Amino acid sequence: MKNLMENLIKNNMEPYFVEKAEDVVPLVKTLIKEGETVSAGGSLTLKQTGITELLKSGKYNFLDRSKDGLTQDDIREIYIKTFGADTYFASANAITKNGEIYNVDGNANRVSAIIFGPKQVILVVGVNKIVDTLDDAIKRVKEISAPCNTKRLSCDTYCNKTGHCISLDNGGEKMTDGCESDGRICCSYTVLAHQRAKKRIKIILVNEELGF
Ligand code: SF4
Repeated sequence: MKNLMENLIKNNMEPYFVEKAEDVVPLVKTLIKEGETVSAGGSLTLKQTGITELLKSGKYNFLDRSKDGLTQDDIREIYIKTFGADTYFASANAITKNGEIYNVDGNANRVSAIIFGPKQVILVVGVNKIVDTLDDAIKRVKEISAPCNTKRLSCDTYCNKTGHCISLDNGGEKMTDGCESDGRICCSYTVLAHQRAKKRIKIILVNEELGF
């Protein structure tokens, strides 16, 4: 953990470490101010740590794309406004010991807000997402993140039915190998490495298993 945190600092990101899920909200309250504009990517980790509830508390100007009754145009407007937010919250699909952060998206609204726009980005990451290398990160998405998320989101994909990416069965294990389903959630792949904007990316590492 110490090495990982040092490598994140070398990459101009700002790591924090907490023991438990319930330690995340008190820490986050020190990193954002009431009244600020905030937004978030869809994330089980944010729910499990109480961040989603905090953002919905009315204390922040929450750009909430999950509100009832939104049209596709409303959601698109929220995605565009998110680029101007003070803080964007998400988790990560994997984080390497070398201090790289790997994410794979279907819509790409999450990865685009992480890499550009919001003044700061806070990623909440359970220890189950720490991997040795980027190759392991790629494998983690094919074996765990994507199958669990397609199940959660009821996507009609091979991995939803079998629990692993189709590419692992047909010898195509490269990063972008996968299915041709309309429900595919692996469409845009990002790696955060050394950042030019110092401390814009903050990572809260939680010493518990969270999310996928
Ligand atoms: S490419 Fe398709 S089968 Fe493979 S993990 Fe992604 S959604 Fe599942």
